[in-house]
Amino acid sequence: MEFQLGCCGLNCNECPIFIATSNNDDSLRQKTLVEWSKLYADFLPKPLEPSDMNCTGCHSQNLFVGCISCSIRKCCGEKNLNNCGDCAEFDSCEMLNGFFSFGYQKAKENLECVRASR
Ligand code: SF4
Ligand code: SF4
Repeated sequence: MEFQLGCCGLNCNECPIFIATSNNDDSLRQKTLVEWSKLYADFLPKPLEPSDMNCTGCHSQNLFVGCISCSIRKCCGEKNLNNCGDCAEFDSCEMLNGFFSFGYQKAKENLECVRASR
């Protein structure tokens, strides 16, 4: 399976919705629906339904509803960047650093690896 790094640095391959979609795993879809409905209630545009629990990655056309509206993804798209690791504002970006501060340090590390490899 091709490694898919999201715009924000999350590894889509490790995302439960991505895995559930790849394996057509309805029990993982349901488990993730229950967990994410609680975790992300304030950030989702509408309550999650089973049909929402599909995604083939940040750069695909089949995107989870919560990631369709992601501001970081939108910003990368407007700048025509593959991910924030390619952005000159990486260190100073409040939006990105705000996201990291919610416990997404692994995403930061993934993007720092991208930058180190340039
Ligand atoms: S884009 Fe899809 S696979 Fe990637 S983190 Fe978001 S929901 Fe998961
Ligand atoms: S400005 Fe921030 S969110 Fe936008 S691409 Fe650059 S680092 Fe990412």
